[in-house]
Amino acid sequence: MDDKILFTKILGIKPPWFIDKVEVQEKRQRIDIYVDHEADIRVRCPVCNKFYGLYDHSPERIYRHLDTCEMSTYIHVRLPRVNCPDHGVKRIDSEFGENGSDMTFAFESFVIRVAQECSMEASSRLCRLSWDRCWNALTRAVNRGRKRKEHRIPERIGVDEKSIARGHKYETLVYDIDAATVEYVSDDRNHQSLESYYQQFNKEERGGVKAIAMDMWDPYINATKAYIPDADEKIVFDRFHVMRHVIDAVDKVRKLEHRLLKEHGEQTLKGTKYLWLWSHENIPDWRKEQFEQLRDKDLRVCRAWAIKENLRHMWNYRYAAYMRKYFTKWYFWATHSRLEPIKKAARTLKAHIDNIVTYAKHRITNALAEGVNAKIEKIKRMACGYRNRAHYRTAIYFHCGGLDLFPKPPVKPCLSFRALCTQHVGGTH
Ligand SMILES: [Zn+2]
Repeated sequence: MDDKILFTKILGIKPPWFIDKVEVQEKRQRIDIYVDHEADIRVRCPVCNKFYGLYDHSPERIYRHLDTCEMSTYIHVRLPRVNCPDHGVKRIDSEFGENGSDMTFAFESFVIRVAQECSMEASSRLCRLSWDRCWNALTRAVNRGRKRKEHRIPERIGVDEKSIARGHKYETLVYDIDAATVEYVSDDRNHQSLESYYQQFNKEERGGVKAIAMDMWDPYINATKAYIPDADEKIVFDRFHVMRHVIDAVDKVRKLEHRLLKEHGEQTLKGTKYLWLWSHENIPDWRKEQFEQLRDKDLRVCRAWAIKENLRHMWNYRYAAYMRKYFTKWYFWATHSRLEPIKKAARTLKAHIDNIVTYAKHRITNALAEGVNAKIEKIKRMACGYRNRAHYRTAIYFHCGGLDLFPKPPVKPCLSFRALCTQHVGGTH
C-alpha cells in the first residue's frame, strides 16, 4: 500500500478531496500531507448552503494533526472560495480544522483533553506546542462553549467571592448549584459584579430563580434585591460563611487570651489555634487528649468555643421558626458571654437572621459547589501559568463552566462533484 492510500484511509479523506503528495522527513520526525481536490467541483456557500462554481483559493493553510507514530504530522490545503450571488465571495467552512485555527479538529480536541487534565506547562510540553498556541486552543474552546451555551438562568444560584493570587484582588463567581458549574465570573465583588450577571436576563427569566446562596455581603444583597423578584424570601446566607464570622471571633478571643497568659509567663495556649477552630469531630485523634485537658481549665477561649459549637445545631432544624427560636437562645448566651469578639459576631448574625433561617426552606449552601471549589483551588495553585486576570477567568470557564468545548467539523460536505450537484442538490447557476 503506498503512503497516499494509507493516509487517505486513516485520515478519512473523501472525494472530491484527495491526497496529492506525502513527504516523510525522518531526520526532522515530520510528515507533511498535501491535500487537493478534483477540478470538476461545485462549492457550497457557507451562508445559504447552495452550491456554485469554484471562484478561487485562499492561500495554503497548514494544520497540525495528531502525530503519526510520534512524528509531527501536518496537513496542507488550499481552501476553495465561492462567489455566491447572494452573499459574495466566501471561504468554505473547512472540513480539516475550524476556521481561524491552525490545528485539525482531531488535534485541537486532543489538546483540549490534555489541558483538562494537566497544567498549561504540562499541556504545552505533552502536545509539543508553544504555551501561546496551547493557550489559544483553550481560549477558542471557551469562546466556542460559551457561544453554544443555552441562555438560561439557573433556579438555584450560589454567589461567592474568590481572591486570586496575591494582592487581594477579588472575583465574583456565580454558580449553578444543581449543575455544579460556574456560570459567570466578574471582576471585583461590588454591586456591579453581580448586577452584570443578572442584566443578561429579562425580568421574566430572573423571576425563575428560586433561591440564592451568598455571603452576608451588602453589594450582593443589594444587587439581588434590585433584580430578583421576592429576593427577601430567596436569599440564603451561606451557613459556612455565617459560621466563619463566629469562628473568626473564637480566634480573636484565643489571641487576646494567649497574649494575657504570656504576660504572666504561661504558654498554655501556644500552638492551639486550630484546636479551637476545627469542628469538634474533626479534631485529630492524637490531639484529643490535649484538647480535653485544656477544656478542664477555666479559659475564655473554651467558652467561646462552646458557643461556636452550639450554633452549628441551628441548621439541623427543618422549620424557620425553630431555627429562629434556637438562635434567640443562642444570641442571649453569646451576648452575655463577656467576650467582645463573640458579642460582635452575634450582633452581625442577628442583623441578618431573616435570611439565615431561609435555609430551613431552601437548604442550600455554597458548599454544594465543593467539587467546583476544589477545581478552582487547583487553578489558583497553577495560577503562575496564567499571566493575568483574564487568563484566570478563561481557565475557570474552561475547567468549571460545564461547557461543550470541542470543535466540530461542518455537518455537510463543502465540496461536491459538479455532476452530483446538478442531479441532487440544485441551486447551481
Ligand atoms: Zn450564499
